[in-house]
Amino acid sequence: MAIPRVDSPQQSAPCRIVVAGGSYGGITSVLTLLDLIDGKPLRVGLETQFSRDLRVQRKFEIVLLDKREGFFHTVGAPLAHVSRRHVKPFWRKFASFDDLHRPEVHIVQGSLKNVDLESKSLTFKGCGSGSGESSLTYDYLILATGLQRPWPIVPTADNHDQYVRDAEAHIAGIENAREKSVVVIGGGAVGVEMAGEIKNHHPNHSVTLVHSRSQVLSNEPLPDDFKDRALEVLREEGVEVLLNERPSVDLDAKELVFADGREVNPGFVLMAASKWIPGTMYLPDSALDEEGYVKVSATLTLASEDSKNPTHFAIGDIARVSGIKRAGAALRMGCVAAINIYAAMLAQEGLTEESAYNDWPEVPPMIALAVGKQALTFGPGQGTKWGVDVMEQTFGDDLGWTFSLRYLDLLDYYEPLKAHEPVGADVMPGQ
Ligand SMILES: Cc1cc2nc3c(=O)[nH]c(=O)nc-3n(C[C@H](O)[C@H](O)[C@H](O)COP(=O)(O)OP(=O)(O)OC[C@H]3O[C@@H](n4cnc5c(N)ncnc54)[C@H](O)[C@@H]3O)c2cc1C
Repeated sequence: MAIPRVDSPQQSAPCRIVVAGGSYGGITSVLTLLDLIDGKPLRVGLETQFSRDLRVQRKFEIVLLDKREGFFHTVGAPLAHVSRRHVKPFWRKFASFDDLHRPEVHIVQGSLKNVDLESKSLTFKGCGSGSGESSLTYDYLILATGLQRPWPIVPTADNHDQYVRDAEAHIAGIENAREKSVVVIGGGAVGVEMAGEIKNHHPNHSVTLVHSRSQVLSNEPLPDDFKDRALEVLREEGVEVLLNERPSVDLDAKELVFADGREVNPGFVLMAASKWIPGTMYLPDSALDEEGYVKVSATLTLASEDSKNPTHFAIGDIARVSGIKRAGAALRMGCVAAINIYAAMLAQEGLTEESAYNDWPEVPPMIALAVGKQALTFGPGQGTKWGVDVMEQTFGDDLGWTFSLRYLDLLDYYEPLKAHEPVGADVMPGQ
């Protein structure tokens, strides 16, 4: 679609809302805004603090800006990056979603570079066919650009075809690993899931997970019984786990040297030990905490912003909020930000009080973790659950892609794996 005009929005002009990042958080914002505009029930069934009979008079223009040309199912990356069958369908081009084919929606492929909070303008560098730098002004901005993670944890390609080539080459590397030996470095949630999926899909390979601490998931705010159970499940699934080891790693030579001098040369090494950084360099330092997360208020606007005049929202993994970073949380935050923009517009038109905003609550730690054929869940009042049946209920057979798309009412556009659709689950993974 054509890039929209780049001049300043006027009061009479449509209200321009830019959503930067079109994954779980961002796409939910766009879809919720469209539901609000259409006066339909919200697909992410949250209640609004204003009457749904109230309608904003001003027209809308929604710009979805993403450096990728589609919605990638990051939760499913551990599966997509070991199983050829799952590579293509886990990246859906935005153009494949009919709900986004509307005159008020513009999809722009580009990477956000700078946000000027005062002038309400941003610059982005085009990706794909248009690679120059452009600027846009806006009335409202939703930032949903997630954490920066390296390949092969998530795609670094900006287009589907390159991503498929990268993923297939990566899978071939696992398939052809010398002596069928694979080592995963890092026993956080990503490393645990990656190791479990490799063993599950390549059962004749030896898969070893190496972690520097005495428990897997050591950085997560989860009880010991969950972490201990995760270790047991990993071992049941056939993954060898080495704890309290911090080998030096030469990725090119595929060589690990342990503290006692032991050298190991696996056929394939996967690094899952990096610290993920929020992709928020486009904001001034004053909007960020010391780790780069965006400081937000209860309504998910920038903390520094006047709550009576909200303009900038940050949602999903980049927002400094309580709880473990999860896709389900990102998705609901996307809904809250969209509702609050609509509430702000209703207030501007004198139709509601300024207090008609939704607040993002304190969220206690909760998680869903896929480990090979089994999954583990933990949530308040539920304790630790695990097993093959937990996997079916929580993730189905595609690490939650069908559930996610059903939750967003986008399942109609998900043909390739539809035949495998599990029955009866309507929850997002990790909720
Ligand atoms: C391997 C793995 C497994 C996981 N498993 C689970 C799980 O089982 N359950 C669960 O709930 N969560 C899981 N998570 C966490 C979950 O994926 C994140 O919480 C979720 O992706 C956050 O969504 P988001 O919309 O905030 O950001 P992201 O999903 O990270 O999306 C960010 C979007 O912004 C775009 N973008 C980034 N920078 C820019 C820029 N400068 N300009 C324009 N666009 C940009 C990206 O292309 C992307 O589309 C997992 C994460 C990983 C890595």
